[in-house]
Amino acid sequence: MSIYIDENICNGCKGLAEARCERICPGDLCYRKENTKAAIRDQSACWTCACCVKECPVQAIELRLPFQISCNAASLKAQLKRNRTIWTIKDASGQVEEYVIQARSLKGD
Ligand code: SF4
Ligand code: SF4
Repeated sequence: MSIYIDENICNGCKGLAEARCERICPGDLCYRKENTKAAIRDQSACWTCACCVKECPVQAIELRLPFQISCNAASLKAQLKRNRTIWTIKDASGQVEEYVIQARSLKGD
């Protein structure tokens, strides 16, 4: 799997001293280039935790799924809501599916 950042969508987290993807990446792999668009330093060091995918407020970052998992090129994006994450998977033919993961209650169950 790999991470792809769409420069046409990334707004560089304008106004923030540190971009959201920079702040959240546990491997310190995300950074902003001189044109303020985000990039990844080293794909091979990324362990595809998807933190940056969920954290990006404009869905500029996607997880590219390998052939072994998706059978054809597919990508995964996320929208983080207060109590749930909405995942959107899009395959090579453009077919889109959404699924929702509810956040676990902090009160326990
Ligand atoms: S998927 Fe995780 S490790 Fe990879 S760039 Fe994003 S936040 Fe960093
Ligand atoms: S969080 Fe999204 S919008 Fe902000 S710099 Fe990273 S990719 Fe760009």
